[in-house]
Order: sequence, then structure tokens, then C-alpha cells
Amino acid sequence: LFDTSDTSAHAKPSDTDYEPKAHPAVSPDSIVQGLNDGQFTLHYQPVISCAAGTPVGFEALVRWSHPQAGLLLPQHFLAVAETAGLIDRLSEIIVSQGLMWFSRHFRETDLLLAFNLSAHSFHGDSFIDRIAAASRSVDIAPERIVLELSDTGRVSDPTTTLNILTRLRVNGFQLSIDDFGIGYSSMSELLRLPCTTIKIDRKFVTTAKHSEEAQKIITSITDLGRRLGLRVTAEGVEDDWTLSFLATVGCAYAQGYFIGRPMEGKSAVEWVNQQEHSNGGSGSASSLRA
Ligand code: C2E
Ligand code: MG
Ligand code: MG
Ligand code: MG
Repeated sequence: LFDTSDTSAHAKPSDTDYEPKAHPAVSPDSIVQGLNDGQFTLHYQPVISCAAGTPVGFEALVRWSHPQAGLLLPQHFLAVAETAGLIDRLSEIIVSQGLMWFSRHFRETDLLLAFNLSAHSFHGDSFIDRIAAASRSVDIAPERIVLELSDTGRVSDPTTTLNILTRLRVNGFQLSIDDFGIGYSSMSELLRLPCTTIKIDRKFVTTAKHSEEAQKIITSITDLGRRLGLRVTAEGVEDDWTLSFLATVGCAYAQGYFIGRPMEGKSAVEWVNQQEHSNGGSGSASSLRA
């Protein structure tokens, strides 16, 4: 019923739902070139509170402005970057670029910024020092930075990974289990890892409107999160019915095309300003329109 491929029966065709293979223009050398030429950029997708409908923060999603191929999505180059040992360099650029943008526009707010990290790309503990230094230098408290991890059940060295994650958590960073409920994420990860948030995989969320099973799964994950003292985020909210459903079952945060697409930094800042005007402090989830 819920497979782990990237197409779901009820989701509209979207920028993430086609061409799962690396783009022909992508090679390790071209990634190095792209890194050197500053071709990797971030788009930011809004996250809101389900109950209040107000902005909570953003998730940073990497894009590659390829000189010949145009704007490439992570599915076209991430696997190649990982295999070629370039993911650490890429992550470093992403984190510093994202934090500079975030600090410039939102330093004095309490909004959050989430980054994605592949758990199996932690090689040494220098990442902790680098992200801690980066957040200090732009004056953003680690508590406002969420590190989203996927595939935590598949890492080659679980002990080192746990050690690094624990130290990140001790330093104040928030940790989120991404794509919870599919693939290599499992209940045991919740006990094993010092996470603060569960992110329900969008396969369940995009199908919820037409699937009672998906609704039951979302309700159960939300309940599990509450019992474990973890915040639950739903990604892939594509319509107003689903947002109301999430609010009803007590899911804390929501993200998806219905709320806002991943957008360039400038548009993301405008999006927050618009929300402030349209919500007027007493907004509700139903007052939001994509
Ligand atoms: P993810 O972290 O689970 O991110 C959510 C993906 O779902 C994003 O795709 C987003 O554009 C898409 N999405 C958001 N709302 C909706 C919706 O309502 N419907 C549908 N159908 N899709 C929605 P994107 O940007 O292509 O990223 C794909 C994956 O690539 C991410 O999945 C994440 O695992 C990885 N990724 C993205 N940026 C980074 C990064 O900076 N570093 C690393 N290591 N991985 C990244
Ligand atoms: Mg994510
Ligand atoms: Mg996901
Ligand atoms: Mg993912």
C-alpha cells in the first residue's frame, strides 16, 4: 500500500515526482565545478503551526543552478555527491548559506530553520564544531536549528553516528527523524536517538484524504509523539482538508504545497510578511491559502 518509491497515487504530479535517476549532466567532476562556482543554492519551504496557522519556520532544500541543465533537484545529484565523497563540502555550503540568510532576515524572531543531513554522511565529528561555529557567528541559538535525518537505520557505523547526534543535542540543536514510517526509519530509532521531532513521511500525508489507513497511521504517529514528548510535523500537506485533519488529531506542525512551495529566499521573506498581515495575530489554519 505505501511503497517507498517517489510516486503516490493521489499526489498531483510535482517537481519531486518524476525522473528519479541522476541527471545525465551530473558527474562528480561537474559537482566539484558547481561547488567551486557557487552554483548550489537553497530554497525555503514554510512550516506552520497546525492549530494556529501561523509561521513556525522553514526547511532549507538544496537546488543546483546547473549552467546547462537548469535548476536541478536533490534527486538528480545528491546520490552522486554522496558516493563521490562530496557531501560534507556540500553540507558545509548549505549550512553557512542558510544560516546567513536566516540571520539576516529572522535573527530577532523565534522562527526555526531546518536542514537535511544524510545520517550516513557523518565521517568525523568536525561537523559539530563547524555548525556550532556557524550558528555562533550569525548569532542564532542552536535551539532554533533543526537537523533532519533520514535513513538513520542504515548507517554503517551506528555508534559514531549516535555519538555525534548526542553531542549535537547536548549543544542544543534540535534533531528530527525525517520520513518517519517508511524505509529505514522505525520505532527503535525513536528510542535509540536523542531526537526532538518526528516528521511523518509525506506518503501518508498526501494520501490521507482518500485513505482511512493513512489517517489511522497519522493519528497513531501523532499519539506516539505525544507519549514520547516529541513534536510531530507532517510534510506533504496538499489540501485544506488534510491541514484541518492534522489540527484535529493534534499534530503540531505542517508543511506542504497547500501551505507554501519551496521558494527562493526573497519570496520566503515576503511569505512571512504576508502571513503576518493576513493572520493579524488571530489566524487559523483555514485562513491559509497556497
Ligand atoms: P525531505 O527532507 O523529506 O523534503 C521534502 C521533499 O518533499 C522536498 O523535495 C519538497 O520539495 C517536497 N514537498 C514538500 N511539500 C510537498 C507536497 O505538498 N507534496 C509533494 N508531493 N512534495 C512536497 P526536494 O526538495 O526535492 O527534496 C527531496 C529530498 O532531498 C529531501 O526530502 C531530503 O531528503 C533531500 N534533501 C533536500 N535538501 C537537502 C540538503 O540540503 N542536504 C541533504 N543531505 N539532503 C537534502
Ligand atoms: Mg527534510
Ligand atoms: Mg520526506
Ligand atoms: Mg526525505
